[in-house]
Amino acid sequence: MSHAIERYAELAVSVGINVQPGQTLVIQAPIYNSGFVRQIAKKAYEAGAKNVQVEWDDDELKRMKYMMAPDEAFDEFPAWKAQGYVDMANNDAAFLTVYSPAPDLLKDVKPERLAAASRAYGTSMHEYRKMMQAGQISWAIVSAPSPAWARKVFPDVSEGEAERRLWEHLLRAARAYEDNPVEAWRLHLERLRGHAERMNAKRYERLIYRAPGTELSVDLPLDHQWVAGGIHNAKGTFFVPNIPTEELFTLPHRDSVNGTVTSTMPLNWNGQLIDKFTLTFEHGVVTSCTAETGLEALQRLVATDIGSARLGEVALVPQDSPISNMKVLFYNTGLDENASCHFALGNAYPLCIKGGSSMSREELDAHGANFSIAHVDFMIGSDQLDIDGVLPDGSVEPVFRKGNWA
Ligand code: ZN
Ligand code: ZN
Repeated sequence: MSHAIERYAELAVSVGINVQPGQTLVIQAPIYNSGFVRQIAKKAYEAGAKNVQVEWDDDELKRMKYMMAPDEAFDEFPAWKAQGYVDMANNDAAFLTVYSPAPDLLKDVKPERLAAASRAYGTSMHEYRKMMQAGQISWAIVSAPSPAWARKVFPDVSEGEAERRLWEHLLRAARAYEDNPVEAWRLHLERLRGHAERMNAKRYERLIYRAPGTELSVDLPLDHQWVAGGIHNAKGTFFVPNIPTEELFTLPHRDSVNGTVTSTMPLNWNGQLIDKFTLTFEHGVVTSCTAETGLEALQRLVATDIGSARLGEVALVPQDSPISNMKVLFYNTGLDENASCHFALGNAYPLCIKGGSSMSREELDAHGANFSIAHVDFMIGSDQLDIDGVLPDGSVEPVFRKGNWA
């Protein structure tokens, strides 16, 4: 397995970020994964990185702050830090996140604190995130185990065994066990691109979703673009934001989503679990929601700002895909979203509009793109999901049947 972990580090650097000689790589990572982070740093320097800058996170400190700091601590995010990210982005740095969710870490924290903190973060980091979401800079996310996460995914085995299994699943999902992982990724990305090209040629005006508890129509803007796998940053460097990735995504029209959609997997948002929930939309806006678990968190998410009550992403993932076939619930959106068709509440990615990356906010607005400081994916795919596509001439054809490409 240690050999595969080294290959995973190499994939993060060479396929995910595609580190360029002379570039600075910023890594955000939990201190628990320091060993893995050092392997990534080594691969980055081997690829010619000028500097590897690590921003460590610690779940214990995070929880301590949420439990012990006064309320006003959550209304602010350090300006120097936000500015630092923008400065590094302007200097062509690339940004890698090593992600290890802590599904229950913040479950008893006052929700107002979480909402305030995510609002402060979203507002302060707006400029950096705008560059990121427009694909101007290279960024990528890879996941790595923590004991708490491994326990959550594999509760019936010892902690050591749970962690070993989680590594194994992550490495398999990332194709790190292949003889030549970089080549396996090249083929995989080519396949995904083929699906995206096919969907782009169709120019569907509307998608209609049907499944138990789901009856939803989603209009697609005229100039929408399906995106898959990787993108080119402003300098023309190709990077793959999510390792692994199985999805094809575009944006819905902000004002034209109608009906009800039911989740098919739990959503781990802001350290809180939201499960078995529905969202009902009228003219693009969530008008009501229900949840068996985490209703208050869901309501807070929807109420983050005006745009968080609308959809910003529509993504297709067949049930017959490597991660879905593992039949494991990861409690990690980065993995679970790649096992299932999903939507995102909140911000739309400008690159999902033809020429959108260089459009002003007004232009994107006119194209029907949604704006929000939030962007939260939630899973709605199952082997009972059918999706129809409405073509420009009004005719209807199947896109997905029983959770797979029709
Ligand atoms: Zn997605
Ligand atoms: Zn998303």
